[in-house]
Order: sequence, then structure tokens, then C-alpha cells
Amino acid sequence: MSTIRESCGVLGVYSFEDLQVVRMLVSGLQSQQHRGQEAWGIGVPGKVYKMMGLVLDGYSEDVERVLSGFKGSCGIGHVRYSTKGISSLSNAHPIQVEGFSIAHNGTISNYHEIALKIKSLGQTSSSHVTDTELAAIRLRQIQGEVGDWFEAFERLSSELDGAYNFTIVTDEGELIAVRDGRGFRPLCVGWEGDQSGSNLYVIASESCVIEYINARFDRRLCFRDVEPGSVIKVSGEGYECRKIFEESQHAHCPFEYTYFANPSSYIEGINVYEARENCGRMLAKMYEEEVKGDVVIPIPDTARPAAIGFSEEAGIPHKEGLMKDRYRRKGSLRSFIEPSKRISIVREMIPIKPIIEGKDVIVIDDSIVRGTTSKEIVRRLKTAGAKRIQWYLTFPPIQYPCYQGIDFPTREELIAPRVCKGDCTVEEANESIKKYLGVNRVGYIDLENLSKGIGLPVNNLCNSCATGDYSCLKSKPIFKSRREMKN
Ligand code: SF4
Repeated sequence: MSTIRESCGVLGVYSFEDLQVVRMLVSGLQSQQHRGQEAWGIGVPGKVYKMMGLVLDGYSEDVERVLSGFKGSCGIGHVRYSTKGISSLSNAHPIQVEGFSIAHNGTISNYHEIALKIKSLGQTSSSHVTDTELAAIRLRQIQGEVGDWFEAFERLSSELDGAYNFTIVTDEGELIAVRDGRGFRPLCVGWEGDQSGSNLYVIASESCVIEYINARFDRRLCFRDVEPGSVIKVSGEGYECRKIFEESQHAHCPFEYTYFANPSSYIEGINVYEARENCGRMLAKMYEEEVKGDVVIPIPDTARPAAIGFSEEAGIPHKEGLMKDRYRRKGSLRSFIEPSKRISIVREMIPIKPIIEGKDVIVIDDSIVRGTTSKEIVRRLKTAGAKRIQWYLTFPPIQYPCYQGIDFPTREELIAPRVCKGDCTVEEANESIKKYLGVNRVGYIDLENLSKGIGLPVNNLCNSCATGDYSCLKSKPIFKSRREMKN
């Protein structure tokens, strides 16, 4: 069970009909709440509004009251969990710099180089700025020189390393969006009617936003993925999308499919729910010689489609063996929580005794990061009377930190390299994690079967956290402590 935080969701809306887009932005952010629960914000030309915590209900009176001064027919939005920079309102997005406001999903892995560059050009910045603010200041410098957004991003991309999807609203009322050349994080664009002549454009981290807007605002938006390396500009002159930089290979994050993204979303044309179900099938095939048991249960909620796929492939019944408390706030939300609270969240996951007692239980999980939550669930299943416990995982052993937009812990905190005492193969991790959890069998998926399950070639997936290969970045990151990343 992952207790990892996503590193944000971005949004941008532009109306050619002078529609006030604030309510649409707030509702769209609500549908991306799973991507960040630490803070949220919206920006319209020349103005930003930010709050800590969860997004307001886009239909509530609070939105009218709080955002009554916010008007605009274009704007951007953001839900945050920090990967770089402390959790504070000032670090929440959108971040305002001279001339525009910016929202970011990703991590700029060479932010220290950008800071030096800014300094060498005579502009100072506070010592606690985030990677996003540094990129924004540098973008401002370049844009001031070249005067064109496409050219500015072409130049900026040669300086930036890491994962970056930006949405920007300028003080003049333009909407700009960019997706990095590797396509680490998802980004899609939705429009009404004809793409080149639509009245409404929506740019979002996930396509679930488009469906949400269709349903809530009675619109009929089509959507597609934004190609990696593309810049979109929507202004009074119309909609323009240009591919301005190309990487030989993409590096889409497989964790988006197995854990983060909403199951209804499409990423690179692939439905997330189906990808999860297929990963469950691949896992059952991978271990078909040894898969025997009485019941397949998911760790709710993320692993449910994978458990269904696994159960169908293995011919073993699928049941709900753990029930999340849906009526308390933390029960219904995902575990984007402080480390100290993780165990208490797991305690709100109640085993259903008749499903577990006396059974050989096959647990399907999306990943193990630090291992503490999984260990607690094992304890609870044993208390509920499980005869045997097997644990299968739809993500390979996580061995290295992520510098591409996910808040994976430092290497010292990761359970796989800790119990394996260094790098490990899938087989070695299966044995060591089995002993650590105190279960009868552990079966991790490998990269090849993960790629088959998702439906993207291995060489178009990022695998840095599983392999330690950071060749999808321009240079290998210098591993930092948690404290260093947050300062
Ligand atoms: S390092 Fe892992 S979590 Fe980060 S982008 Fe790559 S695959 Fe995704």
C-alpha cells in the first residue's frame, strides 16, 4: 500500500465566450484532489487566490463568498503536494512573478543550477524559493529577452532538467501550457466542437477533469493527450499548439497507471482502470505455477481493478476483505498523509472476518514503499484469522528516490534496499520482503510485465525508482535528505 504523495495537478481554462471560469476551475480542481491535498489555488489575469487544505466545493456558497472578487474568462488552477519547498501558503501555486502566474506538476531536478543562473544574471531570489519559482523567474528573464512564449520555452527547456508540466495565465489574459519532452507526468487538452476553433479549452493533468466538467457544466468536450515537448498558447488570436522540443524516448511514469491517476482517466490513450486490471492479469500469469489460494482481496481502493484482473486470470474468487471507513474524511480519501499518521489510517481499514478467517488469502497491492503500513495490515489480517497470506504487487521493488515529480522518500527510508541491504532483483526482494512482512509468499511484478500490463514499451516508461537508471534525466541527481528537499 502506497503512502506516497503525488506532486500536484495542474489546470487551465480559456473561454472565448467571456464565460466566467472561476467556478469551472474550482470544480476541475476538486476532480484532481487525489493529486494533492496539501494546498490549492487559482489564478486569473493579475490575481491569485490560495488556500491550505482541500479544495472548496465548486458549487458551494463558500466559492461565491471567497472568490467573489475573482473574475476572468481564462485562468489556471493547482492542487499541491510539495516535493521541493516546505508546505506553506506562500509556496502553494499559482506562483506570481512579474507578468504572469504559474502552476507546476513535477520536480525541476537541477533547480540549484537555475538558481545560480538567475544569480549570475543579477537577479536575486529569496533563499527558500521552490523549484517552480526559480523556473518562473528564469522564464520571465528569457521571455523578456525574446518576447515570444514558444521561443522562450525552447530556450528554457535546454536549461531545465526534470519533470515539468506548467500552466500559466498572463496578466494580459493569455493561457500557456507546456509538457516536458519526456512526458513524465500526464497532461491533456479538452475542447468543444472543432479543436482549432473551439469556444472553450481546458488543459488538465488528467482527463477525469474533462469528464467532470462535461457532467457538471453540461458541456461536451473532446480531449487528447498533449504531446511531450509541446507548448500551447490560447489568446485573443486563437489556439496554437507547437511541438518545440523532441526527446528520442519518452519516460511516462508507470506509477500514474498503477497508483496515482483516477481510474477513469486516459493517459497516452490508455484507460487507467484497464491498465490496472491488465497488470493484475500479468502478475497472475507471471506466478501461475505457484498461485493457489482461497480468495483474492485488494488493498482498497487503488488495487481493486488489479485484484479483479488477477482473480479472473488465476480463477480464484475476488472479494472485498478489507473495508475502508467511507464515512470519515480520512477513510474516503487516499493516504496522502503525514508519516506519523499512516498507521492510524490503516487502522481505519477493517478486515471482514468471514472473508478472511481460515482462508489462504491472496492480497493484491499497488506497491510497498516504507513497509510500515503493509506490516500493520498483515497483523490485522492475522488477527482476523487468516490461515495463510500471500502478497502480490503491481509495481516492482522501489529502490531509489524519484526526482521526476513524486515524493518518494530518500533511499534510506525505502524498505526494499533496506531489507535487501542494497540493490536487489525481483526474486531477492520477494524473499526478503516475505520475511520482513511475515507472510507466506511475496510476488512483485517485473518491469517487462508491468509494461505489458500498461500497454507501453519498456523503453517509453520511466523506471528510475525501480532500477536506479536516471538516464531519462540530463544528469544523475545528487541524492538529498528529506530535510534538504523541503528547504
Ligand atoms: S522515478 Fe518512479 S515514480 Fe518517479 S517518475 Fe520514474 S517511475 Fe515514476
